[in-house]
Amino acid sequence: MSMRIGYGFDSHVFQAGVPLMLGGLAVEHAEGLAGHSDGDVLLHAITDALLGAVSAGDIGSFFPPNDPRWKGADSSVFLQTALEEVATAGYRIVNIDTVLVMAQPKIAPIAGELRERVAQLLGVKPGEVGIKAKTPEGLGLDHTAIAHCTVLLESLQAPEALGELVATAEAESEEELNAVVEGLVGGRHDMSALGRKVTPFDTDDLT
Ligand code: MG
Repeated sequence: MSMRIGYGFDSHVFQAGVPLMLGGLAVEHAEGLAGHSDGDVLLHAITDALLGAVSAGDIGSFFPPNDPRWKGADSSVFLQTALEEVATAGYRIVNIDTVLVMAQPKIAPIAGELRERVAQLLGVKPGEVGIKAKTPEGLGLDHTAIAHCTVLLESLQAPEALGELVATAEAESEEELNAVVEGLVGGRHDMSALGRKVTPFDTDDLT
């Protein structure tokens, strides 16, 4: 089974008069986050981590910030696109871990709800999502929200499925060998193109 990791980072400045969106959740706070979209810094970091894990570029290459279509966009749309890229590449999420860095609001009271919402958007269990929070001490960034995310993916091909493809056979002729291979793959493919040949030596000599 193959595994891949991804990492994402994002930052947005706080702005009065806009709702605060974090992880797809509307959070009660005096200020929201400035941005071309809804400014959901957490979903943007998760989206970039997913895209990075399958080497599919970044959020800006899919949704350019100067494109009017994404003005005020719900960031879960970006996340869904990243999930499609992950599925297309043949992977699924094992777990994600995140860190939010912001002076206000306090994340601890809403961390459980945030975890549930992010898990729902990702189609995973809450136990597969980590939400952690820090204050930006010493950074001089009290008016900025920062998000980091790491993600681990595993290939969709199950080990049992691989096991089913492993078989040994004794074939007296090319036709017989093709029949065995055809049986293994369910007869769905044209075997003639594979060019399989009966081995010109006695395979017992190999053992
Ligand atoms: Mg962003």
